[in-house]
Amino acid sequence: MDCIFCDIVEGKAKAEILYENELIISFLDIRPMNYGHSLVIPKRHYESFLEIPPDELGVLIIGVQTVFKAMSESIKPDGINIISNNGSAAGQSVPHFHFHIIPRFHSDEFKFRINLKSYKGNLRKDFAEKIRTCLP
Ligand code: AMP
Ligand code: ZN
Repeated sequence: MDCIFCDIVEGKAKAEILYENELIISFLDIRPMNYGHSLVIPKRHYESFLEIPPDELGVLIIGVQTVFKAMSESIKPDGINIISNNGSAAGQSVPHFHFHIIPRFHSDEFKFRINLKSYKGNLRKDFAEKIRTCLP
């Protein structure tokens, strides 16, 4: 299977590695939204968030916090986005699960709020009930 992130994990593709441990690795995104934009990934190949076993997910999210802290202290951005795109409809282009950690500045021009909807009638309750039926 061809996977650029697995190639980075195995050292077959170059990356600017920031941090790693037995289960996770973090490196700079090659096409940053702002300089310093970083990725944190599990070393094992999981395409989807749901496939990641809880113990690895715990290590992964602590890795996100570790890189977030280093980014705050080194780059001193005005804010930081943690984003994960899951599925092509959500913008996932590399099918190896990853978190983006993106330094943000008041001066940058990104807008994530596009076309916000409003709930009408019972719709909010209906959606909440639908999701709750699948929760433990
Ligand atoms: P996504 O679109 O959420 O799947 O994010 C994939 C990210 O991986 C994009 O932001 C790409 O710029 C980044 N990317 C793709 N190839 C590489 C690479 N070889 N090294 C570092 N980042 C990469
Ligand atoms: Zn992979």
